[in-house]
Amino acid sequence: MQPTDSPSRAPESEAPSDFIRDIVAQDLKTGKYGRQLMTRFPPEPNGYLHIGHAKSICLNFGIALENNGICNLRFDDTNPTREDVEYVDSIQEDVRWLGFDWGKNMFFASDYFEKLYNYAVQLIKSGKAYVCDLTPDELIEYRGAPTVPGKESPWRNRSVEENLDLFARMRAGQFADGSKTLRAKIDMASPNIHMRDPALYRIRKVDHHRTGNKWCIYPMYDYAHCLSDSIEGITHSICTLEFEVHRPLYDWILEQLPVPRPQPQQIEFARLNLSYTVMSKRKLLQLVEEKLVSGWDDPRMPTIAGLRRRGVTPESIRHFCHRIGVTKYNGMTDIALLEHSVREALNKHAMRVMAVLRPLKVVLTNYPEGKVEEMEAINNPEDQSAGTRKVPFSRIIYIERDDFMENPPKKFFRLSPGNEVRLRYAYIIKCVDVVKDTKGEVTELHCTIDPDSKAGGATAGRKIKGTIHWVSSAHAIQAEVRLYDRLFTVEEPDSAKDGRDFKAYLNPAALETLQNCKLEPSLANAQRERRYQFERLGYFCLDQASQPGRLLFNRTISLRDSWAKEAQKQ
Ligand code: ATP
Ligand code: MG
Repeated sequence: MQPTDSPSRAPESEAPSDFIRDIVAQDLKTGKYGRQLMTRFPPEPNGYLHIGHAKSICLNFGIALENNGICNLRFDDTNPTREDVEYVDSIQEDVRWLGFDWGKNMFFASDYFEKLYNYAVQLIKSGKAYVCDLTPDELIEYRGAPTVPGKESPWRNRSVEENLDLFARMRAGQFADGSKTLRAKIDMASPNIHMRDPALYRIRKVDHHRTGNKWCIYPMYDYAHCLSDSIEGITHSICTLEFEVHRPLYDWILEQLPVPRPQPQQIEFARLNLSYTVMSKRKLLQLVEEKLVSGWDDPRMPTIAGLRRRGVTPESIRHFCHRIGVTKYNGMTDIALLEHSVREALNKHAMRVMAVLRPLKVVLTNYPEGKVEEMEAINNPEDQSAGTRKVPFSRIIYIERDDFMENPPKKFFRLSPGNEVRLRYAYIIKCVDVVKDTKGEVTELHCTIDPDSKAGGATAGRKIKGTIHWVSSAHAIQAEVRLYDRLFTVEEPDSAKDGRDFKAYLNPAALETLQNCKLEPSLANAQRERRYQFERLGYFCLDQASQPGRLLFNRTISLRDSWAKEAQKQ
């Protein structure tokens, strides 16, 4: 079977186990909710999804699948200034591509604006919320610090009537941005800053990508999130660790309101941090806006769209997420682990072909002009059923420039003057002459073949140390090939020791474009959803911009981890 871009259904064979799944199993056993398990994946449509989101997607959709539950896709679109429909569309495409299905359960927090407003009115009526006139600066000053209690707002004890009137007028657009907020009335002396009368609504006179100009007050994340969970009937609200300190507020808001019980339970896990890349949407957006990459789907990006374009399969992302597991401790995951999952999947499925990326012409002087042989080549040694194909061989071939050295060091087992090498699926050749241009650069090699050294021939078994790949010149097809590597040169571009901006560590070698590559003719029919191993060079796929007359391949990943070798040397 070939890996494809079409959604393949999750989950993986064996369900993992972790502390969240333990909590879920316990709740299902005790029948805590008395209904179907329900999780949600709640992205804010302010950027493309990245590999960190994939961890959350695999967790939320995975747990639902394993327990006959439902996972909602909910757009957390409460901050209109940074959001866009482009992101709403890309998020759906990416979740689907990863292999997950929300059925009819796609929701938008903005669909709940009216309900959320009515809940706020209830909080005011029960004396749990008030309209505050402190300016943004004053709010910060009044909030205090972790060890210094906050100060109560002079507006804290407004009457219910006055609060209801002011809140209605906030909604009606009668006040300027930042001039008023609706705040929860909790405890300004709480050791948890999030409980010090947090803002629930603020005034923002900006259009929303779905509600247009209907609203000029927008709910804060903490207020909207717990209530959206409750409205949808979420049982387990899984989020990343930074929300642990928000949990008391999550619970408090739901406790004050006549919402169904038991309330959804918020559970936190450690977000994925990956070495040699950045994961913050703000920083990824910076790379896009400053044109340091070609877009959100640049194959160097850690975005799902970038990984897809690069040729990574959804299976390997799911495997990776499965492997790293779920914990409560923040840490850094080695990107080599992701690369390993990518190689593993491609090794199983990729079709082997021959391609020469930096061609050097070789004339086989004792091979008849005009003769063409069809050499039998194995499509995938990992998969017998993939069969074989014919690769044409003729008098002039291309080999890889660095498979030849005029003055080789001791252990160079490829081609050099007077030495022999085996051509994959073909003959043993010997280099007899080196042709150079006026600048002294090698332009072609003259070699002779051992005519009996083909598979099945009398000298086929001769011991030759090196085997190299090749492409027949007359039959070669031309392509542009883009070689990709890690986006950054350091493990933690976000917090490098010398304190420079993360962009200072962009890897200039993360993209190398080769124009004049020669591919075996079978690749004229290459398909976008297929994966190819160019023998000895790595795994490749067609780029989405590739066209029949103008082939464009991306290298998904090299065959071996060259960074590990580099690290060992140091
Ligand atoms: P921000 O809120 O700063 O825009 P975010 O990365 O939190 O960025 P969201 O769209 O809010 O983006 O994330 C959607 C979901 O994905 C959230 O539940 C969030 O906890 C989860 N998530 C985001 N980044 C990671 C990560 N690196 N690892 C695991 N889960 C993540
Ligand atoms: Mg977030």
